[in-house]
Amino acid sequence: MWRTAIAISLIAFTARAELRVESTMPGLKAHDVSAVADGDEATWFQSFRPPYSNDYISVTLGKPQKLTSVRVVTGKPDGGNIFAAGVLELSTDGKTFSSAVPLENGAAKWSGKIGPVAAIRVRATADGIAPIAIREIAMEDDVLPKVVVGVPGKAPFGKLTAKCDFTKVPPNYCVLMRDELDGVADWFFTYYPKIVALLDAPTDGLLRDLEIRFRNDMKPGVPGYVSGTVMTLSIPHIIRNRDDVRGLFIHELTHVVQSYSGKGERPGWLVEGLAEAVRYELSPPDDAWRAAVDGIPAEKIDYHNAYRDPARFLLWIQSQNNPGLLAKLNRALKDGSYKSETWTALTGKDPDAWLRAYRAAAEK
Ligand SMILES: [Zn+2]
Repeated sequence: MWRTAIAISLIAFTARAELRVESTMPGLKAHDVSAVADGDEATWFQSFRPPYSNDYISVTLGKPQKLTSVRVVTGKPDGGNIFAAGVLELSTDGKTFSSAVPLENGAAKWSGKIGPVAAIRVRATADGIAPIAIREIAMEDDVLPKVVVGVPGKAPFGKLTAKCDFTKVPPNYCVLMRDELDGVADWFFTYYPKIVALLDAPTDGLLRDLEIRFRNDMKPGVPGYVSGTVMTLSIPHIIRNRDDVRGLFIHELTHVVQSYSGKGERPGWLVEGLAEAVRYELSPPDDAWRAAVDGIPAEKIDYHNAYRDPARFLLWIQSQNNPGLLAKLNRALKDGSYKSETWTALTGKDPDAWLRAYRAAAEK
């Protein structure tokens, strides 16, 4: 029996609006269609009724992507409600579906080459007898996880290499974050030399091979960190704050340039303040974070409040006849000679006296 099953269309926008998930079957409120492409096989879509022949759940990619495989997993985690009579289908134009793999025991995997994929769907090939659950339609891209970019022979560095490690990125996120991930490797070559110049960092011993890892399990509120030669960035943070990725990267890359160790004092507000000041200086003028820093009321600025406040504080002091202050502070922190007296020797006043001067100047 052939029934046209397009009576209703439920649309869910996932974290990125470019990925559209639709179903011709209504779903339970607690298990709506967005669960199909959330990168998490622990969550699932559950239909309200059994599927009719030609009912489907589809994922449409706003921008067609080269995929090497697609997997569908159906049935609840306890094994119930599998999609028994169905087929996994792919489309390169978003309208006609050409490649098809029948579901076996509620699961199917397609792999091969068919050019950029515009849409994926799971379609019922017969009327079902019970509601169905779909845990995930997972897109995989074997090409992406091998990005290593090298720039040989660029003075004054010699070879610079960025390696992006995607082993911990769920495949669906690889597809979703492709532009950002491509950007990250490029930004290394764009911003690293600029940060080195801005901080007048010694090029001896400067890190040349950076590994960038992406993790899905970092604590909320920790967007990224640097440890040795590895920069780790939070996938949920990137997904939710796309405008912030470049700035976050510049901040963390500044920590790579800093890599202070050994003796000497290293006040946290100063280390973070330098990273934020560099971010401010190198961000485009229309950057939203930069505007937010400009928007902090002057009387509220306190350099103890890492992160944004000391950025404005440091840049203002630098503008008060202290050219190259960021670089001088970085040099002292780097060679381990920094003490609280260093600040006063470089700027003529201690930080609290500068804070009073800053607030007085802002009042005028
Ligand atoms: Zn930091």
